[in-house]
Amino acid sequence: MRETTLAIIKPEAVKRGLAGDILKRIQGAGLALRALRLVGLSRAQAEAFYDVHRERPFYRSLCEYMISGPVVVAALEGEGAIARWRELMGATDPAQAAPGTIRKDFGIDIEQNAVHGSDSAATAAREVPFFFSALDLVG
Ligand code: GDP
Repeated sequence: MRETTLAIIKPEAVKRGLAGDILKRIQGAGLALRALRLVGLSRAQAEAFYDVHRERPFYRSLCEYMISGPVVVAALEGEGAIARWRELMGATDPAQAAPGTIRKDFGIDIEQNAVHGSDSAATAAREVPFFFSALDLVG
């Protein structure tokens, strides 16, 4: 099934100049870019985006981190794009992530783990429109 999912290249990866490498992996895996933007999230936007984690102990720290610098947000499309992007990303904790995954290669720790990806169709349906309107999606 063709799907669209949300990718975020997180602040520490953008700061370290890794956005190009990560986009290259995305396109090399056959996922199509339908929209792409550099965003400086406000605190309110970060809190709203991660609202599902509001009760988790790391919520405040996560929001603080996500506003610490610009992020690159992208809408990706392809066959099974949601699961395929999660596979390319690797496990949440870079120390546990499989070799060759983005988080293994570029993540620093369980919080500063380089990238975000929608974890289900329902999540993608909320997260893509959080950043992109229908008019922003090319193709
Ligand atoms: P994901 O779907 O793999 O991104 O993982 P989650 O949805 O569980 O968590 C969302 C984000 O919160 C992760 O990508 C990390 O940036 C951060 N995070 C998750 N677990 C922890 C944790 O135990 N401690 C801290 N500090 N951050 C975490």
